[in-house]
Amino acid sequence: MTELPDPAAMKQRAAALAKIRDLVGARGWIDSAEGMAPHLEEQRGNFTGAAAAVVKPGSPEEVAAVLRLCHEAGLPVVPQGGNTSLVGASIPYEDFTGVVLSTGRLNRVRELDPINNTVTADAGCILQTIQQAASDADRLFPLSLGAEGTCQIGGNISTNAGGVGVLRYGNMRELVLGLEVALPDGRLWDGLRGLRKDNTGYDLKQWFIGAEGTLGVITGAVLKLFPKPRETVTALAAIPGPDASLRLLSALQRETGGGVSGYEIMTRVALQMALDHIAGNRDPFDRIHPCYQLIELTGPRTDGSLRAGLEAVLASAMAEGDVRDAVIAESTAQGRALWRLRESISEAQKFEGASIKHDVAVPVSRVADFMRTATAACEAELDGIRVVAFGHVGDGNIHYNVNQPAEGWTGDRFMAEQPRFNRIVHDIVTEMRGSISAEHGIGRIKKAELAHYRAPLELELMRALKAQLDPGGIMNPGKIF
Ligand code: FAD
Ligand code: ZN
Repeated sequence: MTELPDPAAMKQRAAALAKIRDLVGARGWIDSAEGMAPHLEEQRGNFTGAAAAVVKPGSPEEVAAVLRLCHEAGLPVVPQGGNTSLVGASIPYEDFTGVVLSTGRLNRVRELDPINNTVTADAGCILQTIQQAASDADRLFPLSLGAEGTCQIGGNISTNAGGVGVLRYGNMRELVLGLEVALPDGRLWDGLRGLRKDNTGYDLKQWFIGAEGTLGVITGAVLKLFPKPRETVTALAAIPGPDASLRLLSALQRETGGGVSGYEIMTRVALQMALDHIAGNRDPFDRIHPCYQLIELTGPRTDGSLRAGLEAVLASAMAEGDVRDAVIAESTAQGRALWRLRESISEAQKFEGASIKHDVAVPVSRVADFMRTATAACEAELDGIRVVAFGHVGDGNIHYNVNQPAEGWTGDRFMAEQPRFNRIVHDIVTEMRGSISAEHGIGRIKKAELAHYRAPLELELMRALKAQLDPGGIMNPGKIF
């Protein structure tokens, strides 16, 4: 990212910065070290960047005008939402001299149409605000993730966020009907159509979904809403392994007509960490089992039929040996406690030393095969390594983390092995026609893996799109590529 200190160019950039400051006014301009700090630091402290200023435009038109000035002066821009990226995508590099464009002031829910089942919102709306707006209108906006109180819908769209509800409702790519985008040259594209059917040439919005801010700044979106479920049933099943998990999923989907809204697998090693390190967690079973399946079903009725269906499926799975034991939550609090076991694994892992993380996907039918093959390969590579595998088995997306051996290793020495374990796990994933980044994107930390694993033709097409939309390369430089 080293930039040439061309005096004319520097003068032009300084002039552009002054014009941007005038344009956005005092409310939209931060250039003190203290004020910029939260925008230049990754929340976990993994990255710290620099910028000439943080700019917070007050309207889509202002975003476009800022981009026009940046484009003319060759001033680079890092778009930023809630800054919760897990791949360093929202933080500029240390030698960055452009602006961070924060969407924090674009926070209006513009319209909710309960008949069309859509909500139209500014990109800077916090995810939780959209969920609440939907709920207030007796609807469901189904995207839900750990960072929902902080992350913004524009960031969710730009990372094609998924989470625990993808199995039932899809990820952001499937939840967005229309977009409004400020293009890198300063034009504002109004694609805010809330249509279920629209076959009029290329689907332009898809270019920007998952683009990690490298093709433009999303300023608004039309999102899909769904009926709000009336009944939720949560259960935890002790199972022999991932093969059983997949068979159980098929049976549950058949019985409930696709009512499975959450389906999370945890190996014993993963659950054990959550039990050992997070206060309040307790094992609902009195015996140790190899694997656990968290199940959440939702449905439109409150007549108990959902629970009856679950009990029937569990009983027959027990007879076939696919379930060894099971508990069904009797209250919302018990349901929350079961979810907490799953949700506290990431936090618990930190107490067990360094961890090399893989956020991978394979076809659902290959999940068990993947877990077996990868675990055998990792354990053969390093004595005592601890595989912590958990996640969205119904989407084929497993958080496949490996922790340092309990003894004899320092964290730093173990993390130096990351390239070796990335290669082992990602080779297996690729051989199964899977993905090396299923949820969190590429950002800055998975660039080399992307270049290694995506086909040259695919990379060429991605670069062609980037060059067409952002010929000056001002948008989020050094991310993805
Ligand atoms: P930021 O982090 O600010 O930005 C992310 C990327 O999008 C950057 O490249 C940025 O430049 C770009 N960007 C942001 N806004 C715009 C815009 N308006 N226009 C163009 N580009 C933009 N992800 C999942 O998919 N599933 C999960 O379950 C999940 N759980 C998480 C749990 C926690 C506790 C945390 C911290 C993160 C989690 N994530 C998860 C990561 C996820 O990517 C983010 O939480 C979220 O989607 C990013 O939103 P944000 O507003 O914070 O975006
Ligand atoms: Zn996940």
